[in-house]
Amino acid sequence: MKITPIIGLEVHVELKTKSKMFCSCSAEHFHVDPNTHTCPTCLGLPGALPVPNKTACEWCIKLGLALGCTPNESSFFERKNYFYPDLAKGYQLTQYEKPFVINGKITVDGQEIRINRAHMEEDTGKSVHIIQNGEELTLIDYNRCGVPLVEIVSEPDITSAQMAKNYLLKIQQIIRYLGISDADIEKGSMRCEPTINLKIEDNNQTFYTPLAEIKNVASLTGVQSAIDFELNRQLEEFKQTGEVKSKTNKTTRGWDADKNQTFLQREKEGSADYRYFPEPDIPHIEFTRSEIEAIKSTIPELPDEKVARYLNDFGLSDYDAKTITADKDFAQIYESVVNLKVDQSFAKFVANLFLGSIKTHLNETGEELNKNKINPKYFLNLFESVQKSEISATVAKQVIIDSYQIGQDPVEIAKNNGLIQVSDTGTIEKLVQEVIASNPKAVEDYKKNPMSIGFLVGQLMKLSKGSANPQLAKEVLEKLLS
Ligand SMILES: [Zn+2]
Repeated sequence: MKITPIIGLEVHVELKTKSKMFCSCSAEHFHVDPNTHTCPTCLGLPGALPVPNKTACEWCIKLGLALGCTPNESSFFERKNYFYPDLAKGYQLTQYEKPFVINGKITVDGQEIRINRAHMEEDTGKSVHIIQNGEELTLIDYNRCGVPLVEIVSEPDITSAQMAKNYLLKIQQIIRYLGISDADIEKGSMRCEPTINLKIEDNNQTFYTPLAEIKNVASLTGVQSAIDFELNRQLEEFKQTGEVKSKTNKTTRGWDADKNQTFLQREKEGSADYRYFPEPDIPHIEFTRSEIEAIKSTIPELPDEKVARYLNDFGLSDYDAKTITADKDFAQIYESVVNLKVDQSFAKFVANLFLGSIKTHLNETGEELNKNKINPKYFLNLFESVQKSEISATVAKQVIIDSYQIGQDPVEIAKNNGLIQVSDTGTIEKLVQEVIASNPKAVEDYKKNPMSIGFLVGQLMKLSKGSANPQLAKEVLEKLLS
């Protein structure tokens, strides 16, 4: 039996524009008193007219272009009709027939994942369930109602839970590079709904299990667990009942993060149930070619391009390049240092300090990187001292953290703490003579087995309190013992 998971993802991203999608209310809804950012338009009162937010439309196109999509020449908004308490109008304004952008693709884990579309819509309000005087109540906060939302729909090209997670990370990274949303899954400014089923090939027969869409997944690990659970559940169900895909049996399932399992919510509505029709109060929206070009010109260098440049120009490893570019600010600060000197060994040196020292320090302390604490000149000074063998690579890793914390030149710190490496042959020779005199047994061993020189180098490093240049120490030892 050959089993292939078929996974597609719908990703919703809240744009961080100043105002909402169709009115001038503030789009801020985190940490705001309930129902303070509302007006007749976003409350759906009769007679109120929607006016599309131009910036939001442009950002949707910008995101689409960054995902390799093509803009539609003309697009329009439609009413998606459904009744829900947190949607005061009784319909959501969205794009169905003519989304802003279509047919893109991104590469994840070396595999291409096609993007069907990205369209613009509005968010709903929030239902808050409370218990008051023993009675269950639902309160509604309309601050989020009408906040611009982009929906990115992938083709079902994803074949594992891990790949789904990496796809989300990539989308999140691109969005953050564009600076159009926090794309914070835990906070809810990025949400995702996987649609899952299995292709099962057995004895020259092919079966497809019924499609399930999973809602309410609120973390990255949750997405992975929910998909894994659902893949197993569908396989078990198929083995027991033999149930296969039909036109009607697509279901919506919820994700219970506490129980770590999905559960049936409802049979899914087909698009016909929503009775989409064009919003009569908003004309068609068209962007000219030059407008699209202008939007395109605002797209910064994206992670994939950055990684390629780091490999090519800086000679970094794939891993280092990906780790540095994972965060746009981190990459920007790295480049501000590296741009000081066109030299691959400097770029690698700085990468090692950024990843080996500073990032480790930040992970341990839980601090965020403070770019004001990075002085590019200090890195260059340190690099030059290491090149001249004044400071060892080990000491460099340590003093750069001290430098980051107290804002002092790391070379000065090394000097003040007696960490400057002794590379003076005369001084080293004296130390070597001392080591030879006090370790006759090890000297005998060395004469029988030259590989055992490490012990004598170790003794010398100890004697110099780590300040001797180990390479030079080894050379002088070999010279004096021969
Ligand atoms: Zn409003």
